[in-house]
Amino acid sequence: DVLCEGGTLMAIVLDNITYTYGVGTPFEKTALKGISVTIENGEFLGIIGHTGSGKSTFVQHLNGLLHPTTGKVTVNGVDVSEKTDEAKHMRHKVGMVFQYPEHQLFEETIAEDIAFGPKNLGLDAEEVDRRVREAMAFVGLDYDTYAERSPFHLSGGQMRRVAIAGVVAMEPDFLVLDEPSAGLDPFGREEIFDEIIKLHKEKDVTVILVSHNMEDISRMANRLIVLDKGQIVLDGKPLDIFNHHRHVLQQVGVDVPPVSVLIESLRNRGLDVSNEVLTVDDAVQAILEGGQHVK
Ligand code: ADP
Repeated sequence: DVLCEGGTLMAIVLDNITYTYGVGTPFEKTALKGISVTIENGEFLGIIGHTGSGKSTFVQHLNGLLHPTTGKVTVNGVDVSEKTDEAKHMRHKVGMVFQYPEHQLFEETIAEDIAFGPKNLGLDAEEVDRRVREAMAFVGLDYDTYAERSPFHLSGGQMRRVAIAGVVAMEPDFLVLDEPSAGLDPFGREEIFDEIIKLHKEKDVTVILVSHNMEDISRMANRLIVLDKGQIVLDGKPLDIFNHHRHVLQQVGVDVPPVSVLIESLRNRGLDVSNEVLTVDDAVQAILEGGQHVK
């Protein structure tokens, strides 16, 4: 476990969260029911669940965009619903990249757009400039080529890189991504996920990823939470969930990764293939190795 100054656990803790939209109106809807979970420093957490299961509502609690109706959310030990400077500081430790983050771009140049968040933190010009340069380098946008360009003339994948650079420049401890590859072609998707993996590995950013894409989730996440009707129905390692809890996934309308299904059907036909498989590469390896044992 990683501790902050003062000995608090570096983590986001949701303590018995309930969230109800439109309290007292005819549209009242309880979207989260009794959620308790600790997201620890260093995790790469995948959040999956059918449409309407509560994923967006859940992630909007992580940096205080939504305040729980009952229960409490703490980031590094601080209740993020509070109006103190300390609470504000902790909310800034949780970066958010929403679906279509390019819709959040609005400054005239790429550099100004990335500088927006750090400026709001009240950092001096030199530090803002340092962070912008570093964030651009990190997402592979050459400063001299792109800094003064308009963000609106870029490709979809590049715009998303600018949006991610804006979050990187905030130097967050936690990064929440809600369907970050929506609407991108396979090449753009690959680019974005390479950035996310790099942030996790090289900058020790704890990642919370919401995605419908089981391949992406199973390739990257080391822990999975499955939501259904506002509750956590599964919480564990991807391999364990995909191999041993498929009936639950089916009940709640979540797809199983195609490679897991393939391996299962090969095993059912008597092939001696390992089911320690999460990606296509793993599957190839398992089939090549397993094939040698077939009579
Ligand atoms: P997901 O992200 O898994 O699709 P959401 O968190 O968006 O799920 O939604 C959870 C539930 O809350 C759904 O039943 C949805 O209709 C409802 N909901 C979401 N946003 C609102 C809102 N602004 N007002 C009322 N109900 C909402």
